[in-house]
Amino acid sequence: MDDLQGKSLAEIEQFCKELGLKPFKAKELFRFINQKFGTDLEQLSTIKQVERELLKSKFFISAITPAKIQQSQAVEKAAFQLADGKIIETVFMDNKENLKTICVSSQVGCPIGCQFCTTGQLGFTRNLTCTEILSQVYYFAKKFRISNIVFMGMGEPFLNYDNVLKAGKILNHDLGLNIASRKIVYSTVGIIAGLEKFSQEKEQFRLAWSLASPFDSIREKLVPFKGLKPIAETIKTMKEYQAKTKRRITIEYVLLKGINDNQADIEALAHIAKSIDSYINLITYNPSPNSPFKAVNPNQAFQTLKKYRLVVTVRKSLGQEISAACGQLGTADCNQENSLLK
Ligand code: SF4
Repeated sequence: MDDLQGKSLAEIEQFCKELGLKPFKAKELFRFINQKFGTDLEQLSTIKQVERELLKSKFFISAITPAKIQQSQAVEKAAFQLADGKIIETVFMDNKENLKTICVSSQVGCPIGCQFCTTGQLGFTRNLTCTEILSQVYYFAKKFRISNIVFMGMGEPFLNYDNVLKAGKILNHDLGLNIASRKIVYSTVGIIAGLEKFSQEKEQFRLAWSLASPFDSIREKLVPFKGLKPIAETIKTMKEYQAKTKRRITIEYVLLKGINDNQADIEALAHIAKSIDSYINLITYNPSPNSPFKAVNPNQAFQTLKKYRLVVTVRKSLGQEISAACGQLGTADCNQENSLLK
């Protein structure tokens, strides 16, 4: 038995062809899974009973349900226990009307190991499948009308490139959730191989570069991933990406008191942002248990960057009180009693 969840339309068309089903039935099936979030093939009423039986003899449609849910104002965090028992977390943010965002995880743990990130301290277990990535979204999409998807949850998406891109394309499909490509954001620390592939994608997905420090010597300590290339090489690849795609990049910058927030840091950040066509998104650090890092008021950095005539925003972090904000994922204890699941 094969799982139809996480399959592209082309794959489903191939399955249907092998079973002698017409191409439009494949479209019905794709829509049933990715727009109606169907998991019981018996409820696929737009095709004949005999065809349903045929499909049921070969396929199933998986889904994941949360082991734990936590809510705070405008935020819901779900911890999903996967088939192999591993735990991932996903966050839904109801920022305002018409802006309902899901922060999706791409890996169990994360191999990058950012010092200021809870997920980074968990180590890396494995990549998520496309099915597991989409299932996070569909759990929330059954309850809310989703407008934006950000690959900023647990993991480095460009180290699981094929699965996160396949998921983005299915979410963007007009027979699926039909989320505009510009509302699907991939955030990377700067994985060069991923950036090179991303520049070939025809969809206008957006790119965010998480830059911990404008200086390699500090960045290497904060982001101790062996495969991380120097900033200059990353900028060169970003420029090549922009030459091909003509798309702006968002630079995400987590402000850490006394580490990357002094005047020289912010001015160097401004020069990097000026060298590529970019916005800057300042992020206030969200503390984690036993972390040595401290948050800092972003006003001074904001004013400095504005002097360089850059477009700068300060990210409003939601969900700190339930450890659902940036850099806090991976703390779920699913054995704790959870009244929200009753
Ligand atoms: S910030 Fe992102 S890339 Fe860095 S450890 Fe955390 S999840 Fe991984």
